[in-house]
Amino acid sequence: NRAKTQGDAHCHYSRRMAGDLRRRLRLLNDLQAALDQAAPVQLQLHYQPKVALPHGRIVGAEALLRWRTAAGDEVPPEQIVSLAESAGLMVALGERVMHAACRAAAAWRAGGHPDFGIAVNVSPSQFRSPGFVESVQRCLAATGLAAAGLELEITETIAMQDIDAVIGVLHALRRLGVRIALDDFGTGFSSLAYLHQLPIHTLKIDRSFLRDFPAPRGRTTMAELVVRLGRRLKLDLVAEGIETAAQAQALERMGCRGGQGYLFSPPLAEGAFAALLAARR
Ligand code: C2E
Ligand code: MG
Ligand code: MG
Ligand code: MG
Repeated sequence: NRAKTQGDAHCHYSRRMAGDLRRRLRLLNDLQAALDQAAPVQLQLHYQPKVALPHGRIVGAEALLRWRTAAGDEVPPEQIVSLAESAGLMVALGERVMHAACRAAAAWRAGGHPDFGIAVNVSPSQFRSPGFVESVQRCLAATGLAAAGLELEITETIAMQDIDAVIGVLHALRRLGVRIALDDFGTGFSSLAYLHQLPIHTLKIDRSFLRDFPAPRGRTTMAELVVRLGRRLKLDLVAEGIETAAQAQALERMGCRGGQGYLFSPPLAEGAFAALLAARR
């Protein structure tokens, strides 16, 4: 009887694995098909405002990938990225994302928001691909976006591997005039000893640090420590995931000048974001 139960469990397990595999293959197929199109309707960018604290004036946006498959499923961006990385499609996908985001930002800057900045997430394989710096340069040239209007968001996973090569690429990007942000700071494995060596402009404080923030009087929070660290290193600070006015005010009082979060706006489709921007002029 026990053997039968185990046999059933095993059978159930492999059926689930086969199901997962089938789903992954179907998604890969869909992704490849979408990338084969010049303007895939299923792959879209949403834009989340980046604001100045505490008032919420929009200073730019982060471009965030959205994918609704032909079958109608929303695939979370982390999953899109891992799928694309595993299939060698991430460089192509990343270039599409950067191009679309830079094109939109160039239009918004020309349309009355001359200081608007666009932030684009860069995946590990994209960052490590040999032609990355050139692809950024080509993208700026093709879209007409001023380099200062682009901020690339890299993660600690990127930053901590082969540190000398990474620093070399970051310097090359800086020479183009592009800005660099370290995303999700504090959630990865970065060593503090390396942080001051990285030629970055901005620290993005991960939203997990805002969960217990602000804390009752007198209690020090991680958010506060990260803000102090960033200020000490003379970096710009952006807090992610601000959901309450109390968080925005407390962050600003500590010296964190930038923020993103549902308090101000969720990520919006391009048209909705453009309307919001126009209304704020
Ligand atoms: P991220 O770069 O840290 O982006 C911030 C995430 O926080 C976004 O999730 C955003 O929707 C979410 N968020 C913003 N404000 C709030 C808030 O107030 N509360 C809560 N609970 N969440 C908030 P999203 O869009 O699901 O993206 C998840 C991650 O996927 C991103 O994290 C980024 O690492 C990755 N990603 C998205 N688009 C791209 C892309 O084009 N390329 C690459 N390489 N990665 C991307
Ligand atoms: Mg990001
Ligand atoms: Mg982040
Ligand atoms: Mg995050």
